[in-house]
Amino acid sequence: MSLLRKIFRPFMIVAPYVFRNSQTVAYPTERLVFSERFRGRHRFHFDRCIHCGVCERVCPCNSIKLVPGGPDGKRYPQIDYTTCSLCGFCVEFCPKKALEFTDLVEFSEYNRGSLIYSPERLSQVPDLKEVVPSLKRRIKSYLTDKEMKYRRVEV
Ligand code: SF4
Ligand code: SF4
Repeated sequence: MSLLRKIFRPFMIVAPYVFRNSQTVAYPTERLVFSERFRGRHRFHFDRCIHCGVCERVCPCNSIKLVPGGPDGKRYPQIDYTTCSLCGFCVEFCPKKALEFTDLVEFSEYNRGSLIYSPERLSQVPDLKEVVPSLKRRIKSYLTDKEMKYRRVEV
């Protein structure tokens, strides 16, 4: 390979990418729409729970405990997010679909105690605009034959 070709080859490789669409999103003003199977924070439905304790028993991380709570003081799941691996067993095995995943990933805290979610707290999932106030656009990604493409959708 001639010296000139050696020098210009890297530029020739990079050049086409300069004119392609951006492959990143500018979080927190933009945020991806995650897949329906995405595992973010849980949402709990009081009205569906039958207090069977299956979620507590199947949790491999011992992150779920049934604790008294809710409008009737019966035992409902509490999740400790300091140990939860978001494996999905509790969601999968709950016979009443009382637990489900949301696409909320913005739930970091400054102390460990705040990551223990009571049944009440689990049942309330804030609106994305409350959690990410600077959010202006949501971006849906999809694959074509050649590349990943992005389309804007309503927040
Ligand atoms: S997602 Fe997995 S680790 Fe987290 S609470 Fe449910 S069963 Fe336990
Ligand atoms: S959340 Fe589901 S698995 Fe857990 S106690 Fe309630 S009904 Fe049973």
